Amino acid sequence: MTAIDSDIAHDMVRWRRDLHAHPELAFCEHRTADLVAKELEEAGLVVTRGLGKTGIVATLVSGEGPAIALRADMDALPVHEANTFGHASTTQGTMHACGHDGHTSILLGAAKALARDPQLRGTVHFVFQPAEENEGGGRAMVNDGLFDRFPVQAVYGMHNWPGLPAGQFAINHGPMMAALDTFEICITGRGSHAAMPERGIDPFISVAQITLALQTIPSRTLSAMDAAVVSVTQIHGGDAWNVIPDAVTIRGTARCFDPMIQDRIEAAIRSIVRGIVDSNGATASVEYTRRYPPTVNTHSETDRAIAAARLVAGESGVQIGCRPSMASEDFAFMLQSKPGAYIWLGADGTSPSAALHNPHYDFNDETLVIGASYWVALARQELPRG
Ligand SMILES: [Zn+2]
Ligand SMILES: [Zn+2]
Repeated sequence: MTAIDSDIAHDMVRWRRDLHAHPELAFCEHRTADLVAKELEEAGLVVTRGLGKTGIVATLVSGEGPAIALRADMDALPVHEANTFGHASTTQGTMHACGHDGHTSILLGAAKALARDPQLRGTVHFVFQPAEENEGGGRAMVNDGLFDRFPVQAVYGMHNWPGLPAGQFAINHGPMMAALDTFEICITGRGSHAAMPERGIDPFISVAQITLALQTIPSRTLSAMDAAVVSVTQIHGGDAWNVIPDAVTIRGTARCFDPMIQDRIEAAIRSIVRGIVDSNGATASVEYTRRYPPTVNTHSETDRAIAAARLVAGESGVQIGCRPSMASEDFAFMLQSKPGAYIWLGADGTSPSAALHNPHYDFNDETLVIGASYWVALARQELPRG
């Protein structure tokens, strides 16, 4: 394991718990960014603030050499924390339920450790991004000129992963996380008395048929070899026991790993909706939005990430060719701009970690040093020794 000085290891736990107690939602990470900027300025890094609103790039330059970017996310979730320990959230309804408090502390610790290394030759840009959850802070930073202002050969990301033991890593050459698309289908019929539906056009009939028919997209429109999921997650309509409303809205999400499959899912949703509402005499509008692209690692950077992870976890501690997740990640936007690799850091301790986004979740502090050691090993590997 790459050594992390004990004062930094101690500070990482302190920062992590402090951030956990003070979670901030997407694009509101002001206190978090203040903490990151203060610590890194003290360590002698050049800190640039305000990329993608609350994002930070902290730059460590050690002479001539390659440049890489290492990225962490800073935002919390609108989840009401169920934990009661000392560092539980002090902000009602907001919680670090995805471990971004841990990711921020890990990258902060790695930056401090690398700032003490006189032998690096090159540049490391430490990217602290806002708004990973839903709002695309990674895209906001890229659109704000992240890689024009801070050119790099490659960008690397990491996420803690419940279900994988602490001390292990998992990675794939290729897809790691799915694309995130959303859809909203507004079905309009003609409202009527619930006792006399023949006098109207009941939108709920179309809602029920569409909800079921959407499941034929993964099972019958796409090949069994094409991983995809289509989920209806909201149905809104109606206010009374005895009134059939004019209109009902269906919302949901689709996930897959291939832009061509995204196109086929969108086309299939439109065709199913059109056919069903036509047959029922209703009308519908469909809004299909591509929110996050798939997170796809590039081959050679994956090899580099594996080599660095093996320095920390050993040959057997790095799972290669892991099954990708149908969840999504806005690091995808950085991988659309630069080659790079995204790795999972095992999160399970003596007892399994609660799931990500669960109100009982807490980042496993045992993994802070392991995560920081990976960043340090990767930077040392990529930046030739002086
Ligand atoms: Zn999350
Ligand atoms: Zn996350």
